[in-house]
Amino acid sequence: MADPYRIRGNLHTHTTFCDGKNTPREMIERAVALGWAYIGFSGHILTPNDPGYCMSPAAMEAYFDTLDALRVEYADRIRVVAGIEHDDSLGTPPPPRAAYVIGSVHYVRAEDGALLSVDHSPATTERNIAHMGGDPLTYAEAYFSQVALLPQRTQPHIFGHFDLLTKFNERGVVIDEEHPRYRRAWLDAMDALIPTGIPFEINTGAISRGWRTTPYPSVPQLRHLAAHHVPVIINTDAHSAAGLDCYVNEALALAHTLGVHLVQPEDFLACFR
Ligand SMILES: [Zn+2]
Ligand SMILES: [Zn+2]
Repeated sequence: MADPYRIRGNLHTHTTFCDGKNTPREMIERAVALGWAYIGFSGHILTPNDPGYCMSPAAMEAYFDTLDALRVEYADRIRVVAGIEHDDSLGTPPPPRAAYVIGSVHYVRAEDGALLSVDHSPATTERNIAHMGGDPLTYAEAYFSQVALLPQRTQPHIFGHFDLLTKFNERGVVIDEEHPRYRRAWLDAMDALIPTGIPFEINTGAISRGWRTTPYPSVPQLRHLAAHHVPVIINTDAHSAAGLDCYVNEALALAHTLGVHLVQPEDFLACFR
């Protein structure tokens, strides 16, 4: 029988170089204390429309320099890997120094060109839907049509938080996730992404921040990934050292219950071989 899947690290983390609370060293120390084999960093690339939570180009170089030094310093204790969280609004290649790329949609592009933040706040989400004409399903369709283009627009190694637009939608208060149009929108996006073979992540970030009780992607979406034997990795989108392992065991249990095909970094990242 194959070895049971174990949580050995986390590839989706943020530090004080972008909008995280802890330094890379503090994050690494926590990962070592957890007994993990690796920690990957995925600082936010600069989105000029909304720079507050991102790394400036200068900060990004300092981020990679810092992680290069820490990788050497901690080599006998843990593997440190420097990636990036890329954003589809840019449509540019990822920075060459990034060992891996998480491709994410953080903004829905409205017809007038406005970039509407999908994970800022419940009030922003209400405003976004109004901006798009008032139909939450139109908003969702626009979001998932962008998700379908993540491979071309971000050149990712992992698809980030597939249904981020539901961050403030616990119990369906804003968007009817049971609606056939909603299901069609995410199924079309998922079916466009699956043939790439690029892993999806189970992302517990909205649980640790108190917005949701289940991770991204939703249970119906995870069932679809399981049915198609799509590779999936568990990440926490940690913005603090304390949150590094938030809900990983619950996510693992959910993945097992649904029959999700879990992978490890060695299975798809060249920098781990
Ligand atoms: Zn993100
Ligand atoms: Zn993130």
